[in-house]
Amino acid sequence: MRQEIRNFCIISHIDHGKSTLADRLLEFTNTVPKEKMRPQFLDMMDLERERGITIRMQPVRMEYEREGKKYILNLIDTPGHVDFSYEVSRSLSAVEGAILLVDASQGIQAQTMANLNMARKQGLVIIPAVNKIDLPYADVEGSCKEIANLLGIKKEDVLRISAKKGENIDKLVQQIIEKIPPPKVSSGEGNKHFRALVFDSEYDPFKGVIAYIRVVDGVVTQGQKISLYASKTVGQAKEVGYFCPEKKETNSLCAGEIGYIATGIKEPSKVLVGDTLFLKDEKITPLPGFEKPKPMVFASLYPQNPDDFDLLKLTLYKLRLNDPSFTFEPETKEALGRGFRCGFLGTLHVEIVSERIKRETNLDLIISTPSVVYKMKDKKGEEKFIYSPADWPENPSRDVIFQEPWYSLEIITPPKYLGRILDIFKDVRGNYLETKYINQEKAIISFEVPLEEIISNLYDKVKSASQGYASMSYEFLGYREADLVKLEILIAGKKQEAFSKIVVREKMEKEARKLARKLKEIIPPQQFPLPIQAVVGGEIIARETKKARRKDVTAPLYGGDYSRKKKLLEKQKKGKKKLKERGQVHLPSEVFLEVFKS
Ligand code: GDP
Ligand code: MG
Repeated sequence: MRQEIRNFCIISHIDHGKSTLADRLLEFTNTVPKEKMRPQFLDMMDLERERGITIRMQPVRMEYEREGKKYILNLIDTPGHVDFSYEVSRSLSAVEGAILLVDASQGIQAQTMANLNMARKQGLVIIPAVNKIDLPYADVEGSCKEIANLLGIKKEDVLRISAKKGENIDKLVQQIIEKIPPPKVSSGEGNKHFRALVFDSEYDPFKGVIAYIRVVDGVVTQGQKISLYASKTVGQAKEVGYFCPEKKETNSLCAGEIGYIATGIKEPSKVLVGDTLFLKDEKITPLPGFEKPKPMVFASLYPQNPDDFDLLKLTLYKLRLNDPSFTFEPETKEALGRGFRCGFLGTLHVEIVSERIKRETNLDLIISTPSVVYKMKDKKGEEKFIYSPADWPENPSRDVIFQEPWYSLEIITPPKYLGRILDIFKDVRGNYLETKYINQEKAIISFEVPLEEIISNLYDKVKSASQGYASMSYEFLGYREADLVKLEILIAGKKQEAFSKIVVREKMEKEARKLARKLKEIIPPQQFPLPIQAVVGGEIIARETKKARRKDVTAPLYGGDYSRKKKLLEKQKKGKKKLKERGQVHLPSEVFLEVFKS
């Protein structure tokens, strides 16, 4: 049977038509009857359907008969956005081929390249296809030429399809069958034993953790005792099945197949993505797994209503189950109460997760501006991550080295916007590397930049400088030395830790002025003038003064009793002085909120 299996995924830049093509394939193979079809069928989350983006990968098995032979086509639909490239790499390692889809009205874009590179690294067979040929303004010829050049093939060998209209889907299926090899079984010792790669999981209160697997060797049958290699946990194959795309029970799964096992294991943390599943008591070598993604961006989440803390906690636990890249830890903040400091892969990931929480719970959330994770190395070479200003060392000694995450960044743009894009980078820290031309209409600009620059709305700036034509993708390079300082705020001479911020020295003055000005604007006037100071290492970098609210204490007095008036004013002055000495400044929680919020 293995000879008739084809495992593949669809890769592309976001919006080039992966989900729509998956719909056509489901229809073409009668996996989903036409009357049950709805657009973006595999995007199972409401949020995915509304925003038109795929967040989670979704496997589906399709059966198809051709020239008297029955084939099993296993498709994994994948997300296109770089924040989710971890999901892409997971699905790529479970398949042998990839359809490279390119929108004929856009041509190659940044994430086309990023995803193609990942697929090539995995040694996958690539089937190129130009999509949306039905669009009146599509440049089908140009797009075919672009891909042909990129892959080093003839442009006639690039398929031309319309996922929307269903044009040439039959040709595509033919190529899937002819070009993608059936799944390999690893040769050598131990190949009879069952081994499967866990590429995703979900939790079911009755059946325990359901592991999504790609069987690499052997067979697993319902009822068998199973083990997980890395977590050394034992479970039982309570149910075995595959995705149609709903789960369908079957008796067994064998080498090459993609499906699921309900493990009966009640602890989600024991079934890790990337682990190897095998039959209990058998001796196996584990499969190469994948590295767990490290969150690079941190933001805090607080419930608007402090009573909702437990509900938020529960929701985060649930979310974490099918999103291993998301992390959280409780924290407490002045004026905000109890909340969580959460780790994400990028800013879109922050957006998506908070949106999912809001939807699942109806909670009003307060979300902080995302910041990056810094690193600190002392003289002995010991490393510590700095997740928030609270982790900053009290008096950092001179030999402490600070580091920040750097990324390689590629922007693909029509050459006429090159100048305006390069202008943006005058204010961005980083190194320009080179500009290459794919053809006359398209250039690739490469940079190395700190992540901190990327999350400060860089993509929005690039988009608007190019009227929406440029696209961007980035990849983690490593930690590099950074001259970091902790910016602190004193209000009426008193340090307000909640406003502290870690910034690079280069930008500290700008940041200090910005923050002081903002505070001046939002702090309500007090009875005395309020100095607002931004301080770095004890030195004042910026200052503002909030003018006092003057209460007219003499208003109730009519006429001329000047001495009485003077007395009252004196009294007011004294009172203010006293207040000021005591440093009694009342900062309403809105002030903290306003600074905290993104
Ligand atoms: P994904 O982000 O790669 O999954 O892309 P989607 O499948 O969500 O498609 C993005 C948009 O392109 C949707 O509005 C689709 O309706 C549209 N689309 C996809 N394929 C075609 C096509 O062949 N022709 C036209 N005209 N539109 C298409
Ligand atoms: Mg999609």
